[in-house]
Amino acid sequence: MFSFSASSGKEEEKERAMSLFHGMGKHSHHGGHVHVHRPGHTEAKTTSVFVVSFLVLAATSAFQGSIAVFSGSVSLLSDAFHNVADGLTGLPLWLAFSLAAKRPSLRYPYGYGKFEDLAGIFIVGLIFFSAGVSLVRSGEKFFHPQVFHHPGWVTLASLTGFLANEAVAFLRIRAGRKTGSISLVADGQHARVDGFTSLTVLVGVAGSVTGHPLWDPVVGIVLGISVLWIALRMMRDVGLHLSDGIEPETLEIIRKAASDSCAIRAVSRLRARWTGHSISCDFCLVLDDAMSFQDGRREGRLAEERVRKVLPFAGDVLVVIVPESEAAASPP
Ligand SMILES: [Zn+2]
Repeated sequence: MFSFSASSGKEEEKERAMSLFHGMGKHSHHGGHVHVHRPGHTEAKTTSVFVVSFLVLAATSAFQGSIAVFSGSVSLLSDAFHNVADGLTGLPLWLAFSLAAKRPSLRYPYGYGKFEDLAGIFIVGLIFFSAGVSLVRSGEKFFHPQVFHHPGWVTLASLTGFLANEAVAFLRIRAGRKTGSISLVADGQHARVDGFTSLTVLVGVAGSVTGHPLWDPVVGIVLGISVLWIALRMMRDVGLHLSDGIEPETLEIIRKAASDSCAIRAVSRLRARWTGHSISCDFCLVLDDAMSFQDGRREGRLAEERVRKVLPFAGDVLVVIVPESEAAASPP
């Protein structure tokens, strides 16, 4: 498709350099440059987030469960089950992160990054489910207001649920932002939402004590609707990543960094897409026809370095060197 024309005329040296470069045969006509980045440390970080989240939620669940048995509160018992189940939602994501750290195979030549986005669909589905449960429960409470027999204990259990979920949310969202994983951020959003749901029990207790039984369902419905809104936004983000999409401003950042050298005439055929929590991109560097192969290679390497500097989640970066005369003949 693209060939590199060097002015030096040292054909043999050029071919040797190309085949070394690309690991291809002598007749390769690609002046390409690829660097594969496997974020192994990311996996270790997410493993600890997964383990800590699970332990915190399991302990909370045991505490809430014992108070539920003691006070006879059914909603507290279901909250306890919910928390232990949520501790396990990290499992598919953790598996996806472990897969993403694996080397590409013959069956998966682009690697295993997309499994994370599949896990993201599952996680966002659970947020929708959480919102649905919260709305249905609040609807029921409109007609059957709750009576709290042990308001003190229920208050303690609800505060514990809030603090535990908020701690897990903080851990997951921070790790998600650091590693570029929106699925992990979504998992954190889920915990945050559940924390606030736990907190609404306090409104129920306060309403019940002061004789306002409708406070609880009204707050529950407002919360349920805002959770639906969060879930829709997460769905849009996960959908973008799953469908090989990218935020357009990211393309501009890459283009600006790649073209930041006076030797580069243009950057063309720029593409980028999310694969799990890393961004793969490829582009052509249009260079002067008179430039030597070695200089062209160096420009390619420097362009890759500049792109990696501005793109913390860069995965594969493929740079194709194109002489200006050829670039003019083919559409950008
Ligand atoms: Zn939940």
